[in-house]
Amino acid sequence: MDTIVQLSYFLAAVLFILGLKAMSSPKTARKGVIWAGVGMVLATLVTFFHESVTGVANYILIIIAIAAAGAGAWYSAKKVPMTGMPQMVALYNGMGGGAAAAIAAVEISHALHSGGGAIKAKVEQLLANNPDMSEKAAVAAAKADIEVGGTVGSYLGTDVGILAVLGALIGTVAFTGSLVAWAKLDGRMQRNSLMPMQQYANVLVFALAIIFGILTFFTTSPVVVVLFFALGLLFGLFMAVPIGGADMPVVISLFNALTGLAVGFEGYALGNPAMIIAGTVVGSAGTLLTQLMAKAMNRSLANVLFAGFGQGAAEQEAGPGGEMKEIQPEDAAIMCTYASQVIIVPGYGMAVAQAQHKMWEFVQILQDKGVTVKFAIHPVAGRMPGHMNVLLAEAGVPYDMIFDMEDINAEFEQTDVTIVIGANDVVNPAARTDESSPIYGMPILDVDKSENVIVVKRGRGAGFSGVENKLFFADNARLLFGDGQKVATSLVSNAKEL
Ligand code: NAP
Repeated sequence: MDTIVQLSYFLAAVLFILGLKAMSSPKTARKGVIWAGVGMVLATLVTFFHESVTGVANYILIIIAIAAAGAGAWYSAKKVPMTGMPQMVALYNGMGGGAAAAIAAVEISHALHSGGGAIKAKVEQLLANNPDMSEKAAVAAAKADIEVGGTVGSYLGTDVGILAVLGALIGTVAFTGSLVAWAKLDGRMQRNSLMPMQQYANVLVFALAIIFGILTFFTTSPVVVVLFFALGLLFGLFMAVPIGGADMPVVISLFNALTGLAVGFEGYALGNPAMIIAGTVVGSAGTLLTQLMAKAMNRSLANVLFAGFGQGAAEQEAGPGGEMKEIQPEDAAIMCTYASQVIIVPGYGMAVAQAQHKMWEFVQILQDKGVTVKFAIHPVAGRMPGHMNVLLAEAGVPYDMIFDMEDINAEFEQTDVTIVIGANDVVNPAARTDESSPIYGMPILDVDKSENVIVVKRGRGAGFSGVENKLFFADNARLLFGDGQKVATSLVSNAKEL
């Protein structure tokens, strides 16, 4: 049976790796999600046959956990709108970190228990052999004896003990940190500090958590372990609160990497290869994603974590002022129909409006009229990596019409019309020209270089960074005001009549 269990874990690990590989391209992503899901189901079901799982009560508990969590996840994933996806990722990621920390708590408390049991047995033996000895002295002697060879670390084994404690710290931090990220993205929390000198408090709590983590190796007191976990949870909270909402997607990706690491460590403590491999894969993929996102926003991770960009940016700049020149859907449709090349730049607003289907319909009409149409995607357009790719794939846009920023930027100069629908920060020329702007240095789509730019948005609302966009006031730009879906619908009906 053990061989079958180990082989199943191996197969699950292979499925995780292949699944992740397939997820790196929109063409194979759906397949990748299914493979990784099958791997997860396999790794979960095989638990029923694991030698350490015995007793009807345990089987019933596992079934209840799987049924409750599975039903909750199924319901919430079906219900969540595309724009609520980052919050959901944050919440589920927090659950992963919490689960890793819970495993660590069980492992460490087992170690404490066996420590307590060993002390008790030793006391009884000392009292039986030395009738004159006081109980207090026997307890002290037994403790001293146990502590020579045995601490929490040595009950788990020192190496496993270190990983269990590290996993517990990382898991608790990822748990509360992700919950804060969820609350901020969901608009339930706006605070950027809990107390004066928040960053100093963070350093203090972190240092205390490390000290209590180390102490768990030298004492069998459950109080120390409880304090250690409480400090880890508090540090996650303190760490995430000062970070502004705009930076939350990067932070979620970082917590995701940390959760992977915690799961990998706890997998080592449990001797579970599927957890070790899944955790390592998630840890490294999350780290790479965090780096990619930070690079696409031209920020260092330290700057994201400690500079508070997200909160300050909203108060930045009163804006260039001036007049935005309007255009009506009829004129925009005519302009596009007579163009030889049109580029569409989608952003967060397209996701909010769910305008992708209508935009694709409009594009097909243009193609029928002989216009070359391309989609340009910025790496951080929307609110999560791949956000726009997912929407366009959902609408049925062929992958060969979708271009990454590096591949299409040179083409804007030869483009007659660029339609910016619901994008703002990712097309803001201030990132190229204005050194004082908070988004200076962020690579952008050079839409301002095209002959005409049509910007679809509802009003004068700023982008996620809160920075005004000079593009909207440029001579070659026209604003097509309205909800993305309504505007796209009207572009379709106007283009059909031409
Ligand atoms: P954005 O800068 O947030 O701008 C979105 C625009 O859409 C707004 O100007 C808004 O203007 C418009 N809009 C909202 N609802 C609309 C609707 N129903 N119909 C039409 N327009 C609508 O979006 P972005 O250009 O995609 O930039 C993404 C931002 O998120 C960047 O700052 C990026 O750094 C940040 N970010 C992204 C990621 C990621 O992974 N994708 C990660 C971290 C941070 P109105 O209110 O006037 O309509």
